[in-house]
Amino acid sequence: MLYIDSIHRGIVIDHIKAGCGLSIFKYLKLDEADYTVALIMNAPSKKYGKKDLIKIENTIDMDLTILGLIDPNITINIIDDEKIVKKIKLSLPKKVEGLIKCKNPRCVTSEERDIEHKFVLVDEDKGIYKCEYCEQIYTWEE
Ligand SMILES: [Zn+2]
Repeated sequence: MLYIDSIHRGIVIDHIKAGCGLSIFKYLKLDEADYTVALIMNAPSKKYGKKDLIKIENTIDMDLTILGLIDPNITINIIDDEKIVKKIKLSLPKKVEGLIKCKNPRCVTSEERDIEHKFVLVDEDKGIYKCEYCEQIYTWEE
């Protein structure tokens, strides 16, 4: 695996739970990237013991909502001129639209196809979401 100490301009996705880096790497389609990317696995971490991180030598648009759902402990560092210019702390999104489907057969979202599935966060610690239209609960895992 390629190791890059510093990147000039791009993004470092840090504090990924050890073992989750590869799926995020693939999710962001970085295995198909034509710019410099590095996936570092099992790097030492003060906070978690071990962590994965991803370095991207490019500015890309990322769907932070999805990354927050995959792992809310992730930190995103925006690098410019080899310095961190911005740190983005992810958290579970307060609202999730279109990603989770309501499983309640009597919910308005299953009766009418044109309505977008919407879930609102009701318990941040446990990652529990509730359908905006009915009482259906959804627990986010992984
Ligand atoms: Zn519902």
